[in-house]
Amino acid sequence: MSASLVIQTSFIGDTVLTTPLLAQLANRGPVDVVTTPVSAALLAGHPAVREVIAYDKRGEDSGLGGFLGMVRRLRATRYDVAFLAQGSVRSAALALFAGIPSRVGFSTSGGAWLYTKRVAWRDDLHHAARLLLLARPNGREPSPEELRPMLVPGPDERMAVDALLREHGVAPGDALVALAPGSVWGTKRWPYYPELAGTLTSMAHVVVIGGAEDTPLASAIRSASPGAIDATGRLSLLASAELLRRCAILVTNDSAPEHLASAVDTPTVALFGPTVPDFGFGPLATRSAVLGLDDLPCRPCDRHGPARCPLGHHRCMRDLGPEIVAERVRALLSNREPVA
Ligand code: SF4
Repeated sequence: MSASLVIQTSFIGDTVLTTPLLAQLANRGPVDVVTTPVSAALLAGHPAVREVIAYDKRGEDSGLGGFLGMVRRLRATRYDVAFLAQGSVRSAALALFAGIPSRVGFSTSGGAWLYTKRVAWRDDLHHAARLLLLARPNGREPSPEELRPMLVPGPDERMAVDALLREHGVAPGDALVALAPGSVWGTKRWPYYPELAGTLTSMAHVVVIGGAEDTPLASAIRSASPGAIDATGRLSLLASAELLRRCAILVTNDSAPEHLASAVDTPTVALFGPTVPDFGFGPLATRSAVLGLDDLPCRPCDRHGPARCPLGHHRCMRDLGPEIVAERVRALLSNREPVA
């Protein structure tokens, strides 16, 4: 038995894509995870995880005092190995000063000089597969099932979603289509969700998911389709995963909801503008489709997606019309294959 610590303090999507690694490591012994407070809530109750340790590196645990406090906390548990799923010097130093003898991370990471074992970064793999390499650098390719992330909503999340759907008159068995119009990065936001919602309301209940910051986007959708349900800011991340689990399909930008849907295996139409799935962040749901303008010469223009289009026209999203997206949604809803 080997006690593992996984440090993953990146974005929400990265945490979701770390869950296949967690499942792999759980076969060897107990697994604890250091992650952000937001992601800690997401991993609550996860069967592969013994303890989730929230590290608020930009809030109450910021600075040297917070770092040393976390070091003391980790030292109290004698971990055999740390997996640096997030590659900063701070994360590597945390594992080093916590006295963890074996520290495994990617050779390209900023903190790699503090690792005891460096794993080659594979640009050609999905990010979930890359992270799995940390546990088995020379192992066989993972199966789709091993690669699929997993989240486990509990009774609280189910009750929250039950209440939301009851409030909006959604009966058990009614078809639900989720739209996730938000993204931290402005150029990743597809502009035609209101038009798309208008074409879907005759086929299904439309529910808009996202954080409170996405409420203006939901309001624009509801202006076009007053029957659409605004769930933005209403649900925790894990409850959002539960809501997605009940949806027939999700339409999303290249953003966190795509990974939540993968973790509950909800069919997904993912819309890529300034980024491309080849970066390793495409959908992993069994049935999914990726749409993007493959022939646009300026794509991709950024690993994340700039706040504003550097060329001013934002054609990567503006030229991706609502009809082609609606057609993919209809194909998924009617179970037509293939959808990729
Ligand atoms: S430069 Fe091209 S890929 Fe980048 S935001 Fe503008 S249109 Fe999109």
